[in-house]
Amino acid sequence: MASFYRSKQNAEAVNLIDTQIWICSNQSCKCWLRDEYSFSQKPICPMCQSSMINQTKALPQIVKANVY
Ligand SMILES: [Zn+2]
Repeated sequence: MASFYRSKQNAEAVNLIDTQIWICSNQSCKCWLRDEYSFSQKPICPMCQSSMINQTKALPQIVKANVY
């Protein structure tokens, strides 16, 4: 039987792109959001309710796929 795990790993090409994100201003909190997923101009951290700081981070590009 052929391994389908192996072919799946080969298809995983990681493409880093600079992405606008929001980082929690609370240094003990590791929470951050992608800007495209935040719906307000100044998001509040969902974990600790602190204000969030706008930053740029190199992240793997999101491949839009039909995931159920
Ligand atoms: Zn936080």
